[in-house]
Amino acid sequence: MNYKDLADLIFPDAKDISYYEEKYPERNLPEGAVVSRFAPSPTGFVHIGGLYQALVAKEMTEKTGGVFFLRVEDTDQKREVENGVTGIVNSLKDFDILPDEGMVTETEEKGNYGPYKQSLRKEIYQSYAKYMLEQGKAYPCFCTTEELEETRKKQESAKVRTGYYGVWAKCRNLSVEEAAEKIKNGENYIIRFKSPGREDRKIKHHDLIKGNVDFPENDQDIVIIKADGLPTYHFAHAVDDHLMRTTLVIRSDEWLSSVPLHLQLFQELGFKAPKYAHISPIMKNDNGNKRKLSKRKDPEAAVTYYKEEGIPVDAVKEYLLNIANSTFENWRRANPDKSLDEFDFQLNKMSVSGALFDMVKLLDIGKTVISRMTAEEVYENSFKWAQEYDEELEKILEDKDYALKVFGIERGNKKPRKDISKWSDVKYNIEYMYDNIFFNKDMEYPYQVINDKEDINKILKLYIDKYYNENDDKQAWFDRIKELAGELGYAKEVKEYKANPDAYKAHVGDVSTVLRVALTGRTNTPDMYEIMQVIGKDSVTKRLEKAMR
Ligand code: GLU
Repeated sequence: MNYKDLADLIFPDAKDISYYEEKYPERNLPEGAVVSRFAPSPTGFVHIGGLYQALVAKEMTEKTGGVFFLRVEDTDQKREVENGVTGIVNSLKDFDILPDEGMVTETEEKGNYGPYKQSLRKEIYQSYAKYMLEQGKAYPCFCTTEELEETRKKQESAKVRTGYYGVWAKCRNLSVEEAAEKIKNGENYIIRFKSPGREDRKIKHHDLIKGNVDFPENDQDIVIIKADGLPTYHFAHAVDDHLMRTTLVIRSDEWLSSVPLHLQLFQELGFKAPKYAHISPIMKNDNGNKRKLSKRKDPEAAVTYYKEEGIPVDAVKEYLLNIANSTFENWRRANPDKSLDEFDFQLNKMSVSGALFDMVKLLDIGKTVISRMTAEEVYENSFKWAQEYDEELEKILEDKDYALKVFGIERGNKKPRKDISKWSDVKYNIEYMYDNIFFNKDMEYPYQVINDKEDINKILKLYIDKYYNENDDKQAWFDRIKELAGELGYAKEVKEYKANPDAYKAHVGDVSTVLRVALTGRTNTPDMYEIMQVIGKDSVTKRLEKAMR
């Protein structure tokens, strides 16, 4: 009996690997084109770090005219959830990071290198496992969980590395006959890789992000096919990225330490290894401690959070590029109006240690992104968000013509308004512009410097009676507020007030604030002149009258 007989006994029906090698030929792409992928497990949760990896992979493939595909890694069937693929597909869609190939719905896919769902590739893995068995590069292992546990305890008390290697790899040296005998007797087994490595030797690896790294060779006889017939991540990674003709693996740096094993697997399988780029995790400052963004503790770790909050897709992408490439910020400063697609992303400019996530900065980018939109775009985006997440806002926005006027205030000019950072801000930002809301609210007026009721009423009354003219242009409108200030003994110019503060009760700016607060209930609003224009004479008068009561 030889290795081939044993392989036939274990996988009698597996196809010869030449079948798959022909079925999935080298891709016909221009020189330098990168083939990369996003390969999440369908656990129903896309981590912002996952989206970050997908974005980087998409950038790299797009800029080189390559292929970006989505592969679903569902070999750990305990961790799966219902509709887990849909969640991933939708998250990528939400952020416009569309795969060229791979899963497109829970069950459908596109592309010639599939199936793109690992559980549907069982036969493929078995063919390659058989190929390894035939050459004596893999072997069946019959150790029970108890035996493995016992080995681990012995290793711990002997203070040596744990794992299945060298003298500890009990089944490695079983003869083909012994192994066949056990299989025929119905003993349970899994398939292990017979590592040719030695721990005392080093390998060198050049990572496209981390740079040059040295590792000891792998000498662990890791499991390649589990008891359920499915592969482990390591084996599936080698087989899939070979057959899907991946040229660049972009993944989380938690896998960096597996590189020696992966290179060895590629070598022993006779495959050309891809290049690797290991991305550092996104970190969070937690009371002075830097730690990974955690699915359990941080709502912002979930990609769905951004959609629910209504943070614009472009803001999230821009922010991620910002932390991905140190050169981005300068590029953006020099090109404030260019589309993100024009940025020349560079892998070797990625940070080697984890980038710190900064929500304040993200929201600030959100403000800038929204400030560049037209009123129509702001309307469409807020309405779409409201339809899904905020019925009240949806109702407010029903009158599109009026909403466009509201969103049009201080927009499209040189210094557009920057008060909205996310769609969930919109309601608060515009509700005072609606009479049906404004007049049905118990108002608190946050008056500032001038806060004596009598003084306030004098200002408001005189304004309505004498100085308000809805047909004024902005200059005339403001000149009249100055006149009003003068008539009531306030300084008409801030300068005058500063030069001689004892001569006045307050200045024209303070008078304006009284008007603003009475009109809106707010101290901070966009341009008051435009607000008055939009709400109209009737509303202006009624609002000031209400404030006098
Ligand atoms: N399923 C693996 C993970 O989610 C994929 C890693 C890879 O990209 O190879 O961590």
